[in-house]
Amino acid sequence: MIVLVDANAEWRAAAATVLRESGYEVHARASLAGLAHDAPPVPDLLIVDVASIGAGGEVLGTLPRELRARFAGVALLLLSDVYDEQAIGGALAGGAADFLVRTTHWSLLIERVGRLCRMTRVQFELATSRDRLAKAHALAGVGTFDFDPRSSMLHGSAGSFAILGFDAMRAAVSAQEFMRLVPAEHHESLICAVDRAIREAAPVALELPLTGAGGRPMTIRVAAEPLRDADGRVTMLRGVIRDITDRQRAERDIERMLNADPLTGLPNRNAFLVSCATAIAGAQHGVYGVAVVVLDLDRFAQINESLGQVAGDEALCIVGERLEGDLAALCDGSGGIGVTGAAAGADPRGGAVLARLPGDRFAVLLPQVRDPAEVSAVVQALLRGFGRPLTLAGAECFVSCCAGVALYPRDGEAAGVLLARADAALVDAKRRGSQSVAWYVRPLDVHGRARLKLLNGLHKALERGELSLRYQPWVDVARGALGGVEALARWQHEGVSVPPVQFVALAEQSGLIVPIGEWAIREAARQMRAWRDAGVHVPKVAINISTIHFEQRSPARTAREAIGENHLEPGVLEIELTESCMVRDFDRTLQALHELRDLGVGLSLDDFGIGYSSLSYLTRLPIGKLKVDRSFVRMLGMSVEGEAVVRAIIALGRSLRLQLVAEGVETIAQARALLDSGCHAMQGYLFARPVRAAELPEAISRIPQRCGLVSGRAAPASPDHPEPACEGRP
Ligand code: C2E
Ligand code: MG
Ligand code: MG
Repeated sequence: MIVLVDANAEWRAAAATVLRESGYEVHARASLAGLAHDAPPVPDLLIVDVASIGAGGEVLGTLPRELRARFAGVALLLLSDVYDEQAIGGALAGGAADFLVRTTHWSLLIERVGRLCRMTRVQFELATSRDRLAKAHALAGVGTFDFDPRSSMLHGSAGSFAILGFDAMRAAVSAQEFMRLVPAEHHESLICAVDRAIREAAPVALELPLTGAGGRPMTIRVAAEPLRDADGRVTMLRGVIRDITDRQRAERDIERMLNADPLTGLPNRNAFLVSCATAIAGAQHGVYGVAVVVLDLDRFAQINESLGQVAGDEALCIVGERLEGDLAALCDGSGGIGVTGAAAGADPRGGAVLARLPGDRFAVLLPQVRDPAEVSAVVQALLRGFGRPLTLAGAECFVSCCAGVALYPRDGEAAGVLLARADAALVDAKRRGSQSVAWYVRPLDVHGRARLKLLNGLHKALERGELSLRYQPWVDVARGALGGVEALARWQHEGVSVPPVQFVALAEQSGLIVPIGEWAIREAARQMRAWRDAGVHVPKVAINISTIHFEQRSPARTAREAIGENHLEPGVLEIELTESCMVRDFDRTLQALHELRDLGVGLSLDDFGIGYSSLSYLTRLPIGKLKVDRSFVRMLGMSVEGEAVVRAIIALGRSLRLQLVAEGVETIAQARALLDSGCHAMQGYLFARPVRAAELPEAISRIPQRCGLVSGRAAPASPDHPEPACEGRP
């Protein structure tokens, strides 16, 4: 339908006829008067002559206000008698779609009218589909927006403003106004994300908690893409926001169902394992350990049988509540027992977690253990808490429990493994009787008869002279010189060389580690004498002595004798304290260490970072050197976090005024990273493998060249590769 308003009756009639012949319906009239009421509801086109508008419009060529509202979205074709540039310009600026100088070239009129009618129809369809999209968005809780970084204005669809609680009629809000909805602690991350998207022209997606303009707390998900101009500059971020509040709530409900024990409301096994994995990740190669304690009620079956299952359930609830209270009191973050959690502050128990396991078992996670003694203290205190009677089904009764403990990293590196090991320890504790505590003890790889055979072999090894030492140099890379050698035991058993990892544990469990350690001291001292006599300069030799040895006998006497017999200075001997297990008799160990130090023997702590050494322990031991475990060195070049850990250890060693030696250096890259961090003493395959005494001079002669590769003073012979994988000559 076309509405034609023209005071020129003759042209109007002729034009109406032509248009009708072309298939249009035409509503023709002489003036605008009354048009608002008589015209068809939604015409496709208005054709109006400028003269008739001139009478009623405020601006030449624009329709009066009420008509503009009435015919919003309908294209306006202006008719004029002359080509008046100013009038036409004003009309087009005022919203007219096109103009036509009155003509009797009817094909011109038909062409213009056809195009404008099509335009109106397309616009109408567009408006309809926009409306439909807005409704769909509203149903799905989705809205769209454009963010203009230059004006800092957020132009949003009605849907997005409805989500955010703004007046849906608004077309834009300022970034400032939007930020008022976002909690202050999220401002920085949001601004960073937007900045990065603009700077790097990269898409951005984030979840944001906020308070809607109407005060409703909600979470939205925002995903936006940058739009660029012809020069590649980002001019706009265009995106979608989605209200994910309900979805998040549902997820939280499901999570709660999956992670809580329905009887006690405590975290279940699942949740416990997750907390444990988080604690392990937090403690990874730190100075802290993570303890898992499994508690199992003694004779719980009797309660169930004699008082019924309801009373049994009640007992579990009471025990759960009491354990929770006791744990909170013990680990209140006051530092009393030193159990402060990763989430300290957020959790009143300082990150300690209590969970219920299936049956009558509970598990406790202590995430930041500085000293195993702290764990013992917590476990003993929890067990003492069972001294209070419970009232069940009107009767007073006592329950007690046993505990099994496993410690990261000693007993396992994964949450599931630690829990299983604490369980295994619990079996031991149960065997010992009610209210017992057992720590996990690693079983030997060999069992029964095979173990006995190996043990017999090891007993005879010393008499038969089957043990020997290999020597691995450690070097001062900055000076390009040998610092000393470490003596490493080998056992030639039935024709094969057995490395210490396979027999040291057996020797420790059987007590054979003491004669082996003393033999190693004597043998190393004898070898030092032999090198001296042969003119081979070896500044120091280090001997590995297990903590178990220290508890049973002080190695000082043997060291003194070995030094005397071989006419050596005490300073050429060094003892490496190897922590295969926790020092149980600290006083005795400390006394033995002091005796060695007074003698003038050097002391170092081996495998630092993975053993049991806590900070408090470190400061109390009279050691002069830390050997940084090779698992840290392996982290170099693998991750930024790994490098940060190594740097922190080096800084720690420095602040304690300890000498540092990095173990297991295999590549030039690792060595350079260590040098950059300020650690120049290194040991590892890059410089030399453990070799027989006779092969040491040759290994020493290669050291300056190896050090040169690291400091860049010599051209690398081979790229970043360690030595071939053989140990000396067979
Ligand atoms: P440790 O004292 O930390 O000795 C270093 C170990 O790392 C040695 O293994 C050595 O061969 C190895 N190693 C050195 N450089 C590299 C490297 O670049 N890459 C890799 N992958 N490994 C490297 P070994 O000889 O098998 O000794 C293992 C552990 O057994 C020693 O660790 C030490 O704790 C213990 N041990 C060795 N000999 C004795 C001993 O006479 N008495 C006692 N109590 N323990 C000993
Ligand atoms: Mg060692
Ligand atoms: Mg070591």
